[in-house]
Amino acid sequence: MKDFGLHIWGDENFIIDGDTININHASQPSLLQITHNIREKGYKGPLLLRFPHLIEKQISTLFQTFEKAKKTFAYKGDFHAVFPLKVNQFPNFINALMDVSQSYQYGLEAGSKAELIIAMTKTPLGAPITVNGFKDKEMISLCFIAAKMGHNITITIEGLGELETIIQVNKEFNQNLESPISPKIGVRIRLHSSGIGIWAKSGGYSSKFGLTSTELLEAYEMLKKHHLLEHLWMIHFHIGSQMSDIAPLKKALREAGNIYAELKKRGANALGAINIGGGLAVEYSQHEGKQERNYSLQEFANDVVFLMQEIAKSKGVEEPDIFTESGRYIAASHSVLVAPVLELFSQEYHEKGLRLKETNPPLIEELHDLYRSITRKHAREYLHDALDHMESLLTLFDLGYIDLEDRSNTEILVNLIIKKAIWLLKAEDTDELKKLQDRIQEKYLVNFSAFQSLPDFWGLTQHFPVMPLDRLDEKPTNPASIWDITCDSDGELGFNRDLPLYLHDIDVSDEEYFLGFFLTGAYQEVLGMKHNLFTHPTEAVIAFDEQDNYRVEHLIEAQNLMDVLDDLDYDTNLIDKRLKTRIEESKHMNQEEKREILGKLYLYLSENSYLKTIQANNENKTKDNSRECI
Ligand SMILES: *Cc1c(COP(=O)(O)O)cnc(C)c1O
Repeated sequence: MKDFGLHIWGDENFIIDGDTININHASQPSLLQITHNIREKGYKGPLLLRFPHLIEKQISTLFQTFEKAKKTFAYKGDFHAVFPLKVNQFPNFINALMDVSQSYQYGLEAGSKAELIIAMTKTPLGAPITVNGFKDKEMISLCFIAAKMGHNITITIEGLGELETIIQVNKEFNQNLESPISPKIGVRIRLHSSGIGIWAKSGGYSSKFGLTSTELLEAYEMLKKHHLLEHLWMIHFHIGSQMSDIAPLKKALREAGNIYAELKKRGANALGAINIGGGLAVEYSQHEGKQERNYSLQEFANDVVFLMQEIAKSKGVEEPDIFTESGRYIAASHSVLVAPVLELFSQEYHEKGLRLKETNPPLIEELHDLYRSITRKHAREYLHDALDHMESLLTLFDLGYIDLEDRSNTEILVNLIIKKAIWLLKAEDTDELKKLQDRIQEKYLVNFSAFQSLPDFWGLTQHFPVMPLDRLDEKPTNPASIWDITCDSDGELGFNRDLPLYLHDIDVSDEEYFLGFFLTGAYQEVLGMKHNLFTHPTEAVIAFDEQDNYRVEHLIEAQNLMDVLDDLDYDTNLIDKRLKTRIEESKHMNQEEKREILGKLYLYLSENSYLKTIQANNENKTKDNSRECI
C-alpha cells in the first residue's frame, strides 16, 4: 500500500509528489506546507482544512453528469439539486458551497427549524429549498413565510397529520387574500424497497418516514377538498445513505415513478417532479478489493433518467423534473483533518532504558545476544526465538523467579529485536510477517479525538482513509494502530489485518510526523461530540487566487477552555472568581509567585484543550500529561 490507496479513494484530488501528498490543483501545494503555514501562525493541535475547489468539483460533476444523461436519452424534464443541510451546516462550508454553486441554481434542504433559517438566509431567491422531516405548526408557518419572501420552497408531507396542519396554516396565512401564496407541496412515499448497508433505515416499509399507498390516496382527497391540489408537485423518497449497490435504487425509482404517474393520471395535474433523495456513495476504501461502491455517477444518472423516461412513456405522462439531495457525495471530499503524532509507544523501549545486571537470567542473556547478532539471514529465526523467550520470561515473572528489572529488560530487548527484524525483512512481504503484525503493531498517539472528528468510525466502524503527509518516498514498515488523546479506550483505530495500515518508524522527539484523515467533510463535524471536552478542531479554508497561489482564509480557532465550559452552562464568572481566590488565599505562595501563577493560569485558560505537540528538547511535559491520561 505505497500510495495508501490514493488511487482508489483519491478521485485525483491529491497527488504524491516526491515525498509529500499535494493538492492536485493550481500550484499544487503540499498538505504539509499548508499545515506548517498555519502552525507557524501559532495554531497547534489538530487542523481541519477545507477546500472549496473540491466542493465546486463535486457540484459541477453532478450537474454535468445529469446533463449528459439527459442529452443521451433526449430527456425533457429538468435536473435540479439541493444540498441537505444535515450533512454539514458549518458556516465555513455552507458559505463556500453557496459561493461556488452560483451558476447552478443549487439550493438547500432543511430538516429542522434552525436548518430552515439557514436555507431561507443562504439560498438565492429562485433556487429550490426543500423541507423534509417532522414538522410542527411553527415550522410549517416558517415555510409559508419563506414562500411569501419569494423563495422557491417545497414542503414535503411526511404524514397525514402534517397535511392537516398545512391546510390549517394555509387558511391562516391566505384567508381573505386576493393572490394567496403557498409553498409547493411534495409527498414522501413509503417504499417497499430499501437500501442496503449501515445507513439503509431511511427507506423501506418500516421506515420512520413517508406515506403508504392508502395514506397517499387519502392525502390526494384532502388536498383536492381544500383546493391545494394545484400545489402538489413533487414525489419524494430517500433510500438511505452510502448506497453501495445500485440495484435498490432502481427498484425504488420504479416504485416512485409509477406512483408519480398514477397520481398524475388521477388528476394531480401540477405534479411535475421526482426527488430521489440522497444516498450517492463515496469511495472511502483504502484497499484493493474492498471498494464500497459498485457503480459510477454516470451509471447512477443514466439509470435515473432512463427509468423515469420509460415509466412516463408507458403511462403516457410528462417526463418529470429530477431533483437530487445528495449530501455525502458533495461534502465528503472537501475537508482533510491533519493531526500531529505525539508519541510512538514502543519508543519507550529504547536501548538506553536497559538495566542489565552483572549476572542476568540466562534467557535474558540470550535475548541480548540475539539482539546484538541478528542479521537478515537469521532474522526470522531470531524473531521466533525472541518471542518464545518472552513468553517464558513473563511466566517466570508471574511465578516470582525474576524481578521487575528483568521483566523490563525482557520487554525492551524483545521490542528491539522485533523492530530490527522488521527492518531487515522489510523487502519481503511474507505471510508470516503479516501474521506477526497483530503482536508487533506500533501504537501512534495522535493529537485528535476520534469522538469529535470521526464519530462514524466510533459509532459505525466506518473506515476513513488515513495517511502520513510526508515520507511518501519511503516504504512504511510499522503495522500501526492509532490512538486518540481521549481517555477512552474506544478512541482507537486498531490495526486490522484485513485493512492494514503501515506507518513510518519515526522519532517524534526530533521530527514531526502528521497524519491526514481524508473524506471527513460529510456528517462527521456536526455528529462529533465533545467527549472528554475536546471540541471542534481549529479550521481554515484554503482558497486559490488567480496566480494559482493558495491563501489561508476564515481561520477559526478551536474553542478555549472557558468557552467549552460556558457551552455546558457552567457559570464561568464563578469559575474565574473561585480560581482567583484560591490563588490569592493560598498559604503556599508568596505575592510574587501568586502573580506569576495567575498569569500562567490565564494563559492556559485562553487555550484549547488539545495537547501541544512534543517538540524536540522540551522537557517532555506534554508527554507526561498524556501518559497520565492514558
Ligand atoms: C440525509 C438525507 C439526504 C442526504 O443523504 P446522502 O446519503 O448524504 O446523500 C438526502 N435526503 C434526505 C431526505 C435525507 O434525510
